[in-house]
Amino acid sequence: MIVVLLGPPGAGKGTQGEILAERLGVPKIATGDVLRAAVRDGTEQGRAAKSYMDRGDLVPDSVILGIMKEAMGSPAYSKGAILDGVVRTVPQAEGLTSMLAELGRKVDKFLLFDIDDDELVKRLGGRTVCDKCQTPYRGLEPGTTCEKCGGTLIRRKDDEPDAIRNRLDVYRAQTAPVIDWVKEKDLELSKIDATGGLDEISDRAMKALGEFTK
Ligand SMILES: [Zn+2]
Repeated sequence: MIVVLLGPPGAGKGTQGEILAERLGVPKIATGDVLRAAVRDGTEQGRAAKSYMDRGDLVPDSVILGIMKEAMGSPAYSKGAILDGVVRTVPQAEGLTSMLAELGRKVDKFLLFDIDDDELVKRLGGRTVCDKCQTPYRGLEPGTTCEKCGGTLIRRKDDEPDAIRNRLDVYRAQTAPVIDWVKEKDLELSKIDATGGLDEISDRAMKALGEFTK
């Protein structure tokens, strides 16, 4: 079963992706992770990606897709995967579905984690991160000492309210068309209410995946 997670920054996709991967017994794929692994392992696509990174350029979608294909074609992913952050734009959605078709596979479900902007601004705005070990914290003010390493917690510029609104605008401009595209293609999409406790949210997601979890 292949599940693609969609949703705004702060909706908790990463955490839910891990919980769902565990509950379904399939690995989670995040673009950054497979990219780093491919570069580390020196795969053909990994070497291609590294040449862009060494020049300080963004790795193009086509190379990312090649890396995803290498991963999805490997035995570790034969049962499926939870894809987190892999699809943010319509070209990426198109690229992913045609890449999977080449492997004789398809996306079984798009899960859209839905939460309103005010709640996201509250959540992300309450986040601080250690300036040394990068551990994220919630509900602690900047200047607090990191309990893991003794570093100092800071608020990322990205997590200031204006920056958050801006990130959400970017997300909506890119991802709203993806949702329209999924509907146009008659693909399976479920909207998940991303408010409440972690278990509550993952139960909703499991229910939406229904037939695949039996
Ligand atoms: Zn720390």
